[in-house]
Amino acid sequence: MHEKLSSIYDNVLRRNPGEIEFHQAVREVLESIGPVLGKHPEYAESKIIERVCEPERQIIFRVPWVDDQGQVQINRGFRVEFNSALGPYKGGLRFHPSVYLGIVKFLGFEQIFKNGLTGLPIGGGKGGSDFDPKGRSDREVMSFCQSFMTELYRHIGEYTDVPAGDIGVGGREIGYLFGQYKRITNRYESGVITGKGLAYGGAQVRTEATGYGCAFFVEEMLKARGTSFDGKRVVVSGSGNVAIYTIEKIEQLGGTVVACSDSSGYVLDEKGIDLALLKQVKQDERGRLATYAERRGGHASFVAERSVWEVPCQVAMPSATQNEITGRDAATLVENGCVAVGEGANMPTTPEGIKVFLDAGVAFGPGKAANAGGVATSALEMQQNASRDSWTFEFSERRLQDIMSDIHGRCLQTADEYGMPGNYVAGANIDGFRRVADAMLALGLI
Ligand code: GLU
Repeated sequence: MHEKLSSIYDNVLRRNPGEIEFHQAVREVLESIGPVLGKHPEYAESKIIERVCEPERQIIFRVPWVDDQGQVQINRGFRVEFNSALGPYKGGLRFHPSVYLGIVKFLGFEQIFKNGLTGLPIGGGKGGSDFDPKGRSDREVMSFCQSFMTELYRHIGEYTDVPAGDIGVGGREIGYLFGQYKRITNRYESGVITGKGLAYGGAQVRTEATGYGCAFFVEEMLKARGTSFDGKRVVVSGSGNVAIYTIEKIEQLGGTVVACSDSSGYVLDEKGIDLALLKQVKQDERGRLATYAERRGGHASFVAERSVWEVPCQVAMPSATQNEITGRDAATLVENGCVAVGEGANMPTTPEGIKVFLDAGVAFGPGKAANAGGVATSALEMQQNASRDSWTFEFSERRLQDIMSDIHGRCLQTADEYGMPGNYVAGANIDGFRRVADAMLALGLI
């Protein structure tokens, strides 16, 4: 790492003790932007990098609620408003027992550059709670969401901070959150949250956007190498919203997804995942993947407690959570003939894994670029809300496809400009950073 950047990084470690995921996310960006400082001394003079590593505002709050047994439960809520140089803070809410400040800060930090890379007017933020929706009744989830919003509402707004979903926060939770915001404020402020249902101001393609966008991004990477998804064998990790719509689009593009996973193991289905059955088990019934294998009969097998990355494939789409591809997993994928990786999740590949992929010449699409379709479509939802309009599915999907193709082109062009052809990690980090840095310079000392 560049000397100046390494002393900034040491300061980040000192000022944010124990937040290892945040350290990892900062390190990856700082390792990419060294060459930018040579071309832009004004960034260092104005301490843009130090400023970008410090959130504008961090909110931590108590979330009390009552479970179905009548017991009071206490969770912790977070919203980190990281950077508003490009627009209102924008980023999802994650409800998962692993959530603590370090996770929210890593996600918020990544979001700044991802959102910058989309070219749309959105800043970066993230929030969530250590609440675990798994096994909770609808009434319990509603009670939690209402309590969460009873504090959050004072911090958000369509021009201030616009949350959305992430792991553990889907259509049901967004509905309860928006309902409570509307009730407290007495304002039908649609643009205050995205990922809304189509019945009350949501946008077509938002549900599908992260997965579809990631498949479009990988299709672009493959196209740049003279090939496509057609006939390719693909492994997708996870089986939530991102995984499901990644599988759907890859199947439409001619690929065969032979495996997907959840926290208990993976299913191998050599004939290709039956998407209707997967949706039924995971979305409608909120069930386990083992049930998919049971119902699919002889075609599929469930492999408990093993990594899905042992399944040979030509394209890997990590769509579960952070640090799910280790250096060893990456080496296995490369040995098995993997030529492209598209990160649907945020930071799913460890630094060791990224190095293995880049050294092996794999087309590696980092999350900041490959999964930006979700937040980009959130920005389209805000646009439709602001103009009290709603677009068709076809038009919205075309917009998403164009945005992903633009992001892909920008990553490649920036990587070329900085002498690292084909390196999407460098391209995404540099382009995202430059956009935010230029806006921060223009706005003065913010
Ligand atoms: N959670 C998603 C992400 O990681 C979407 C955020 C949004 O739509 O605001 O980008």
